[in-house]
Amino acid sequence: MKTKIKKSEEEWEKILTPEQYRVLREKGTELPFTGKYVNNKQKGVYKCAACGNELFASDTKFDSGCGWPSFYAPASKENVAEQEDNIHFMRRTEVLCSKCGGHLGHVFNDGPKPTGLRYCINSASLDFKGKKENKK
Ligand code: FE
Repeated sequence: MKTKIKKSEEEWEKILTPEQYRVLREKGTELPFTGKYVNNKQKGVYKCAACGNELFASDTKFDSGCGWPSFYAPASKENVAEQEDNIHFMRRTEVLCSKCGGHLGHVFNDGPKPTGLRYCINSASLDFKGKKENKK
């Protein structure tokens, strides 16, 4: 995968928190219902915690009950990349940030309309920027 941002693992380790590094760079998964954005219903955008690339909009977030922030579509197709993942002998589609190559989560075919997709994303990979109207 070709990415615009190229940093050594040592550089990423300095920028990211240990949990962010484990998920984004080592393709880790946070425990279900532990991420800070699972129940976030505020309006705004979810950016890549590593590089700031705009990944998901709050309009597409839905309650999937799976324990991770879930979206039915990315903010734009160019901003996320997908690749086959056969780790743990499960056929899944991995979702990555197209700008820095950071691991975000996986996409499944059991999402709601209009796309039928469920982007199951780790909170640790995301940095939420709320709209002003949320702050009262
Ligand atoms: Fe990124």
